[in-house]
Amino acid sequence: MSVMDLARAEIRALNGYSSARMEAGQAAVMLNANESPWPPAATLVELNRYPEPQPARLLARLAELYDVEANQVFAGRGSDEAIDLLLRVFCRPGRDTVLIAPPTFGMYRVAATIQGVAVREAPLRRGHEFDPQALLAAVDQHTRLVFLCSPNNPTGGLIPLPIIARLAAELQGRALLVVDEAYIEFAGSASATRLLAEQDNVAVLRTLSKAWALAGARVGCLLAAPAVIALLRRVMAPYPLPSPCVEIALAVLADVTAMESRVALLVAERQRMAAALAGLPMVREVLPSAANFLCVRVDDAARVWRELAAHGVIVRDVSRQSGIEGCLRFGVGTAMENDALLAALASTRVAA
Ligand SMILES: *Cc1c(COP(=O)(O)O)cnc(C)c1O
Repeated sequence: MSVMDLARAEIRALNGYSSARMEAGQAAVMLNANESPWPPAATLVELNRYPEPQPARLLARLAELYDVEANQVFAGRGSDEAIDLLLRVFCRPGRDTVLIAPPTFGMYRVAATIQGVAVREAPLRRGHEFDPQALLAAVDQHTRLVFLCSPNNPTGGLIPLPIIARLAAELQGRALLVVDEAYIEFAGSASATRLLAEQDNVAVLRTLSKAWALAGARVGCLLAAPAVIALLRRVMAPYPLPSPCVEIALAVLADVTAMESRVALLVAERQRMAAALAGLPMVREVLPSAANFLCVRVDDAARVWRELAAHGVIVRDVSRQSGIEGCLRFGVGTAMENDALLAALASTRVAA
C-alpha cells in the first residue's frame, strides 16, 4: 500500500486549476494572463506579471538546503499553508481523523476543524514527555495524518529521530506521519528528512519564519514523497508566493553563516535563561527546551503575565492548555530583552 491510497479519491482525480503561468512560461509577447503590460512604477519591474506558482529557483535552493530533490518540495505561504493543504488532501470531512500529541501547536486543530475533521489526542506524559506507545495505541482505521512537532511548541521537547523512524515504519500504509520541524535548527540535531529515502509516509514541515528570521515574508515548505507534493500542488492557491517574497527568501537563504550565528546566540541565551529562571522563587519548573523559547511553570501564571505586561514585556500565556497548567512560554530574545524579562520577574517578586 502506498501513501497515495490514504489521499482523498476526489483529490487524486482532480485536475487542479491550470493557471496561465503554468500553461506557458516565457515569451517576448505575453498576452495570456490579462496582466498589465506596464509595471506599476519604474522601480517595480516585473511586478505586473503573475509569479511562478512554484518558483523553480526557490525550490532548487530549498532542495539543496534540506538535501532532497526539487520534486519533494512544496513551497507555500509559511508552513501553516502546508498544514492546511495536507488536511484538504488527506482527510474527508466527517469521516477521517488526525492525531496530535498535546499540548502542541494550535494550527493542526484549527486546520482540521475548518475541514470538518475530528482530532484525536495522545497527550504528552506530565505535559511534556512524548509517549510513542500512547500515540500508536490511538491510531485506528480513521486516522489519516499524525502530527508530531519536534522540537514541540509550546513545551520545547525534542523527539529523538530513532523514535520518529520507528513510528514511521509502524504507520506505513496506515497514516502519513507529519513531522513539524519549525524549530529544528535550534536543536542541533538531524532532520527527519533523512527518513524520506525509505518511507513514503513521512512528511516534514520546515519554515523560514524562525531560524531564518523571515516570518514577515511568509515562506515555508513541506518535504515529502513526490506523489504527495504533486497532490498538494493540485489544491494550492493559483499563485501562493508573491515574487518580492521569493526574491527576499533567496537573498536571505544565500547567507547560511548569518543564520547559524543567530541560532548560536539564541541557543547560548536559552541556556543562560534556563539557569537564571530556575533560580527565581516563583519558578517551579523550566521544561527542557531544544527550541528558541522556554516553557516555564510559575506560581500564579495569570498574575505573572499581567505584571510582565505592566513592565512592557509580553510573553505567551499557555497556562490554560491541558498538561502545562501554570506555564508561560518565554521566547528567547536578545541578551538585553532577556535581561529585561529577568528584571521584570525580579520586581514582580518584590510586588508580591
Ligand atoms: C511558527 C510555527 C510554524 C509556522 O510557521 P510559518 O510561519 O507558517 O511557516 C509551524 N509550526 C510550528 C510548530 C510553529 O511554531
